[in-house]
Amino acid sequence: MTDLSRYTTLGTGGPAKEFAKPRTVAEVEELLRHGLPVATIGLGSNLLVADEGVEALVLRLEGELAAVEIDGDVLRAGGGATNAVCLHRARAAGLGSFEFACAIPGTIGGGVWMNAGAYGSDFAQVLERVLVATADGTGWLTPDELGLSYRHSNLRHGQVVVQAELRLQRRPSGEIKARIRELNAERKAAQPTNKRTFGSVFKNPDHELSAGRMLDACGLRGFCIGGAQISPKHANFIENAGGARTEDALALMVEARRRAREHYGVELVHEVEFLGPIEL
Ligand SMILES: Cc1cc2nc3c(=O)[nH]c(=O)nc-3n(C[C@H](O)[C@H](O)[C@H](O)COP(=O)(O)OP(=O)(O)OC[C@H]3O[C@@H](n4cnc5c(N)ncnc54)[C@H](O)[C@@H]3O)c2cc1C
Repeated sequence: MTDLSRYTTLGTGGPAKEFAKPRTVAEVEELLRHGLPVATIGLGSNLLVADEGVEALVLRLEGELAAVEIDGDVLRAGGGATNAVCLHRARAAGLGSFEFACAIPGTIGGGVWMNAGAYGSDFAQVLERVLVATADGTGWLTPDELGLSYRHSNLRHGQVVVQAELRLQRRPSGEIKARIRELNAERKAAQPTNKRTFGSVFKNPDHELSAGRMLDACGLRGFCIGGAQISPKHANFIENAGGARTEDALALMVEARRRAREHYGVELVHEVEFLGPIEL
């Protein structure tokens, strides 16, 4: 059994019932007919996996499913390609508009699923179409068909993002590089970039305070349960402070939601995705 804690940036979670690393669309299609429920993971950078494990076949895309090519103004990437590699290839080709992803440590598949975004942009703004494999066949979906909104898509487990096409804008490489440097510096000043986290814990509520500021005002900065800690740098991040389990992170989330409800009457909604039997 493969322990999924190796595949999450927080470093927690139990085993997958089965685990496979398909390299082609045909291999994914075959695995989808295998009988077990299928879930796909990217870099596990937005993922809390149950400590008791996952009763599913978990896929991680490799080979041609992680390849990247440039075709005119279009960047074509496998669902398992990392944002970092895509951004590097785009910059080298003088294609901008993907700079927002410079500090999002995920894959194209995870980015589509989450409609990941930052600094006023997101995947919805650059996606042209997405190739999705299911047990019933493989086909292209448009951003509209994916129902992309703030950190949300309509995708469900059993639908595998095997490829995506991003339409980018011509821009001088130097300009792109400078923008990336600026965004990375901004990120480093505000967030814990050298700790094991899974990015933002909660979506920003419809409130004058962001989730981070609200949890900060609730006195949660630095608060610990077990091996998990609300980041002393940014209260909407949970860090693995050493030996954390998923249940520790979940207990912090329960406490954070309780305080936001009590102090502000706000029901915080989690941004992090759950895999396995997890309930808040
Ligand atoms: C330090 C840090 C900073 C971050 N900053 C940001 C930020 O600024 N903005 C932001 O939006 N996010 C941010 N994140 C969260 C995270 O990086 C993004 O949500 C990212 O897009 C997740 O990609 P992933 O490949 O790691 O997906 P995973 O975490 O592995 O998976 C996320 C979801 O996508 C599904 N999935 C993954 N790949 C596929 C696929 N090929 N087909 C079908 N489903 C798939 C998984 O089943 C899961 O439900 C941050 C995380 C960290 C650790």
